[in-house]
Amino acid sequence: MSGQSQARKKFVFERDGKKCKRCGCALYLEKGSKENNGKMKGHIHHIKHRKDGGTNDPDNLMLTCWPCEKSWHRNDEKERRKK
Ligand SMILES: [Zn+2]
Repeated sequence: MSGQSQARKKFVFERDGKKCKRCGCALYLEKGSKENNGKMKGHIHHIKHRKDGGTNDPDNLMLTCWPCEKSWHRNDEKERRKK
């Protein structure tokens, strides 16, 4: 259960230029769309984690690719372990 509406995802996707905000690679959102040739599926990243009180407001969301999303969370884990 993500709590994200498809419309909100699409809004963030369009706002961020259909590209990963971190590495800039081109992404697609809808599976099966003509645009997804050679592109990775976009992921909606929560800038502030939901468990830290982040919301599903578009201001708290940004478009990333999967590799960025994964490395991000790995870094977060490292940070947390340090503290
Ligand atoms: Zn990326």
